[in-house]
This record gives sequence, C-alpha cells and structure tokens, in this order.
Amino acid sequence: MTELYYDDDADLSIIQGRKVAVIGYGSQGHAHALSLRDSGVDVRVGLAEGSKSKAKAEAEGLRVLPVAEAAAEADLIMILAPDQVQAKVYAASIADNLKAGDALFFGHGFNIRFGFIQPPAHVDVAPVAPKGPGHIVRREFEAGRGVPDLIAVEQNASGKAKELALSYAKAIGGTRAGVIETTFTEETETDLFGEQAVLCGGASQLGQYGFETLAEAGYKPEIAYFEVLHELKLIVDLMVEGGIARQRWSVSDTAELGDYVSGPRVIDEHVKENMKAVLADIQSGAFAKRFMDDQAAGGPEFQELRRKGEQHPIEATGRELRKLFSWIKSSDDYNEGPVAR
Ligand code: NDP
Ligand code: MG
Ligand code: MG
Repeated sequence: MTELYYDDDADLSIIQGRKVAVIGYGSQGHAHALSLRDSGVDVRVGLAEGSKSKAKAEAEGLRVLPVAEAAAEADLIMILAPDQVQAKVYAASIADNLKAGDALFFGHGFNIRFGFIQPPAHVDVAPVAPKGPGHIVRREFEAGRGVPDLIAVEQNASGKAKELALSYAKAIGGTRAGVIETTFTEETETDLFGEQAVLCGGASQLGQYGFETLAEAGYKPEIAYFEVLHELKLIVDLMVEGGIARQRWSVSDTAELGDYVSGPRVIDEHVKENMKAVLADIQSGAFAKRFMDDQAAGGPEFQELRRKGEQHPIEATGRELRKLFSWIKSSDDYNEGPVAR
C-alpha cells in the first residue's frame, strides 16, 4: 500500500511562516484562502482588474490585490485560476515576481504536465490537489474534517518542498483525511481520465441514456429521473463508505443479480476499449491541445457543448422535481450554481 500522510506527519508552522498568495477565488480558491486564513496563515488573494469575485473575498475579510502585487508580496503562490487562463496569468503577472526560494503551487498539474507553464529552476514546484470539489473542500474543513489531497514534488529547489506541501495540505484540512504523494504526470493524467471516463463524462452519459431509454419507452420522466439520477447519490454514498461490495450488500438480492448480469451488458468490453482511447488522447496531449486551442478562440466548442447539455430533457425534469426536496439544502455557494435553477 502506498503511504498516507496524516496530521501528525505535517508541521503546520511551516506554512504559518510563509506569505501565501492564492490566485483566483472560485471553487478551489475560496476554499484554500479561507481555510489557510482559519489555520493562522498569512494569506492574500490575487485577482485580475475588475474581478467579479473581489467583493466576495473582501466580504470575508480577505485582502485582495492585483495578481502581480500579490505574487510579489508572497513567497508561496498557489495558482487557482481556471486551467485555461493560468499560462497567461503566469506570464503576465507571476513569472517576473518569482524570487529564489519562492514556491509555486497548483491545485492540478495540467499546465505543468503539458508544458504551458515552465517555472524557473530556483523555485519549489508542487501541486496540492484536493480530490473533491472546492465547495466540499471548504464545507469539510468547517465541519472539522477534510478532503484527501494529492501532493507531488516537481522541483525541489529548497530541499523542503515536500514538507511545505504537507504543511499546506494540513492547513486546508487535507491531512485530516489523508494525503498521498504522487507525480505531476500521474496526478494530471489520472485526474483527467477519472473526470472524463467515469465521474463526469461517464456518469453524465450513463444517466442521460438511462433517462432517454425509460422516457422513450413511455414511462413518466419524473419516475425516470428518480430511478437513473436521483438515486445515484445514495448508491455512490454506499460505494464511498465500503466499496462496490457495500452497495451490493445493501441493495436487494434482486438488484444485486441485476447488477451482475446487466452491468456488463450495458458497460461492455467496448467501453473499456473506448476508455483506453480516451486515456491515449490525454497522455499524448491531444485533449489538452483541443481544450486550450478552443479556449484561445473564445471557447466555441465548449459553449456549444455546454448549451446542448443544458437542453437535455433530464435537466428540465430535475429542476421541477428538486423543488419538492426541501432537504436538498442550498447554501449560498450552491445558490450560484445550476442546482438552484
Ligand atoms: P474557477 O473557475 O472556480 O476559478 C474562478 C476564479 O478564478 C475566479 O475567482 C476568477 O475571477 C478567477 N480568475 C479568472 N481569470 C483570472 C485571471 N486572469 N487572473 C486571476 N484570477 C482569475 O476554478 P476552479 O476552482 O474550478 O479551478 C482552479 C484550479 O483548481 C484548476 O487548476 C482546477 O483544475 C483545480 N481543481 C479544481 C477543482 C474544483 O473543485 N473545481 C477540483 C480539484 C482541482 P472572476 O470572478 O473575476 O472571474
Ligand atoms: Mg480535474
Ligand atoms: Mg429501484
């Protein structure tokens, strides 16, 4: 088994002795900045001129500076702007403000792995990558728990980059849950694969096909929604608690047999071949290029696919049904997102 690092393996005073700049105040940025602050770390937030997030960060009592000023002031810069803008932000406002002994941190290795950012040799480079959405990272921290983090050491100019990354992970709650050391390449490629093949791409497509199959056969869309999407959370909760085995233990014997005989009919060996092709496109950089080229052109493919996804009938059905669930809580953060629409 790979080694896991917990609170006792990390020294919080290391990060408490640094000046941290969190660049971006979105999903991950707000979680890191607030939890670092709550852990006694000297933190400032770097945002672009006219940023929409500025007021939110200031309302939390955080100091907000232009990116270049935040980077110049800090000796640890955590880049949590969207992946597609990081290279531009780095070149314009960060590169010239990196002094020997500084550290450049990331929430995901995309820009390092695919070469869009090439830091100088005199800084530490490491990701502290939470394995969960930013709003959950913050929610867990506030509840006294944490979301697991991956750390890696890409450049170790100080000779202490790993201790620094562990200390940072402790300050955002990561070592409460467990931290695993990896490499930028492994973190980036497995993260992209997981979200494309299973977590986002796979699960979304599976739910849509399931919904379409039932709706086209004449069943009520509301019932279809419950059966293929709503209940997914309950099943996944069991998987998280005790693996696939615990899900099979909890469901009826009828459902368990259906799992064994129909799972492989729906997700057959072609799906694994498709997954291998997806992984190959990630490893070759083809996916990264497609994303960055599209973004450079203003994101026409991205916007079109997003529009198409929002128009799928499963979304309209879900919007109506979720109004009935008073127990699906909408925190302030969630009120911004599609859940509340
Ligand atoms: P978001 O899209 O939520 O980040 C938006 C924030 O970045 C906003 O504050 C935005 O400001 C700011 N921003 C946009 N452009 C710039 C700019 N040019 N200069 C400075 N700030 C800018 O990003 P995520 O939190 O989703 O992702 C951040 C990183 O974390 C990525 O590397 C991602 O892969 C990684 N990650 C994300 C996870 C997640 O849960 N979302 C999970 C694990 C890793 P404004 O309000 O002005 O637009
Ligand atoms: Mg990701
Ligand atoms: Mg059922």
